[in-house]
Amino acid sequence: SICYLDGQYLPLEQARVSPMDRGFLFGDGGYEVIPVYSRRPFRLEEHIVRLGHTLAAIGLPDPHSAAEWAAIVREIVARNDWQDQSVYLQVTRGADDKRNHAFPAEVRPTVFLMSDALVTPSVAQLESGVAAVSAADFRWLRCDLKTIALLANCLLRQQAVAQGCAETILFRDGFLTEGAASNIFIVRDGVMLTPPKSHLMLPGITYDVVLELAQRHGLAHEVREILEDEVRAADEIWMTSSTKEVLAITTLDGRPVGSGRPGPVGRQMHAWYQDFKNTVMRG
Ligand code: PLP
Repeated sequence: SICYLDGQYLPLEQARVSPMDRGFLFGDGGYEVIPVYSRRPFRLEEHIVRLGHTLAAIGLPDPHSAAEWAAIVREIVARNDWQDQSVYLQVTRGADDKRNHAFPAEVRPTVFLMSDALVTPSVAQLESGVAAVSAADFRWLRCDLKTIALLANCLLRQQAVAQGCAETILFRDGFLTEGAASNIFIVRDGVMLTPPKSHLMLPGITYDVVLELAQRHGLAHEVREILEDEVRAADEIWMTSSTKEVLAITTLDGRPVGSGRPGPVGRQMHAWYQDFKNTVMRG
């Protein structure tokens, strides 16, 4: 595949970054994953705005305007073969001549984008849902930033994979935060619930779309703190992300969620999401 590195488009296997890059040494950078349907980036502006928030919060000057970012993303999409892609974009605080926690005097950010075929959940996964485990959320207190320092998320996701599951649902001080790489929605008595945005979770682009769709279609919903016990007693649980879209979680820690099958509200939301996606793609 073709990637982008510091102003150049080149085959991914030819791309080279210095081992002194602060992304490599410190996980010092921000990133985005942008889904592309029929060669059209979905919610591109929102992803670029979120990247801007991340970079501003970590004191890394944004190397590109929104228009420049959009142009680079579109070029990467054009140069790769797939109709549906997932574009990965990252910016790090670049290389210094010595390893030093403090920022370099002159920062030259490293900008890297690559793309892959977009793999959304299979028909089988949509029909049966996926299994999840739970864990204590031991991440830092700036989970609202999409930084490349993802060791905690990797360890937490691996707990699920080690048990043959797809996702780890995180609880902090008895409350739901999110998944290791997704936001979480639950349904109780027909009402869709999800936690409010805070520094304890990533403000998902898909999370926003799901809330917009609930609003538009008049689905009863509440954005509020959710107790761990409420999640365990939920009729439905879903995970949302740019690549998983809206995916039912049908077992949690080995116990069935509700009926143990994807529920009616989640099926409806998945259908609205597909519909919305297709409308935007045609538009
Ligand atoms: N929360 C975390 C920790 C994530 O890594 C992700 C994305 O992968 C999400 C939530 C979902 O965000 P989005 O809907 O923008 O993909």
